[in-house]
Amino acid sequence: AKTEGKGTYRFFEADMGAQIRERRSLEHDLRSAIANGEFNLVYQPQAQVDTGAVNGFEVLLRWIHPARGSVPPALFIPIAEESGLILKIGEWVMREACREAATWMRPLTVGVNVSAVQLTSDGFADLVRRILDETGLPPQRLEIEITETALIRDPNRALQTLQKLKSLGISIAMDDFGTGYSSLSNLRAFPCDKIKIDRSFIQAVHTNPQAATIVRAVLGLGRGLGLPVIAEGVETSEELSFLDMEGCTEAQGYLFGRPAPIEEFVPLLSENVVV
Ligand code: C2E
Ligand code: CA
Ligand code: CA
Ligand code: CA
Repeated sequence: AKTEGKGTYRFFEADMGAQIRERRSLEHDLRSAIANGEFNLVYQPQAQVDTGAVNGFEVLLRWIHPARGSVPPALFIPIAEESGLILKIGEWVMREACREAATWMRPLTVGVNVSAVQLTSDGFADLVRRILDETGLPPQRLEIEITETALIRDPNRALQTLQKLKSLGISIAMDDFGTGYSSLSNLRAFPCDKIKIDRSFIQAVHTNPQAATIVRAVLGLGRGLGLPVIAEGVETSEELSFLDMEGCTEAQGYLFGRPAPIEEFVPLLSENVVV
């Protein structure tokens, strides 16, 4: 790229054009991805910090594009949200995850990410109730992970839906806590059963004193409010000992297991195995 003048602008413009075409192409292909069986789910264990016992799994969506291969969720989820396709895709994720979890021999929880678009869509709580009925998964085993962005979009609607979900017995986890639009008052204003500390803080606990302070503060907040806190993105045993020392009881991350097809976790589903 040129560093000044018109040339830079043209380069930028061309680049924007390519980005827009890329986006349209992905959106186009997303429309047929469910029908073509291009989506699958991977599962990541959530474990007890002190014992390593597995409490449940978070479900993460994967898209294997026929020509591009695996497309990262960070790339296609925003496109699915902006185009409204997330409603169908999210419904597919919820149904598949509940169907799968209903077959497990142990009463482990299943965590499903729900986007703001879904949470504030018409009849979302009814849809979830129908899926639970259909699959036979007890509501107590479903945990919905939402981000605070979801609450800001349409707070009244979000609150109504969350109350309905809670009354069904489903639990709500506040995802990516500490980033973005997070505000402490959300924890009070919205029904919430668990706080998930964002992985950016966990990964910096040993290099950045501020990150360590924030993690301690979130753990203190959880204790004060009587809310369990789970740390995400735990990769090393040093990070785990820090969390254990600071009183964090639950963790998730590569240290315990990378997101993988559920087949890889079969022993965990029937026996109480430590990871
Ligand atoms: P998230 O909900 O914060 O999910 C955690 C992300 O951290 C996942 O990335 C997971 O693979 C990654 N991760 C877990 N442990 C570690 C670790 O120890 N180290 C590192 N470096 N990363 C770790 P993934 O699968 O790429 O998903 C990215 C985001 O896409 C998710 O962030 C979530 O916001 C969104 N997403 C994924 N699946 C779904 C879905 O079914 N529905 C919706 N609405 N969003 C989804
Ligand atoms: Ca999540
Ligand atoms: Ca996160
Ligand atoms: Ca996230």
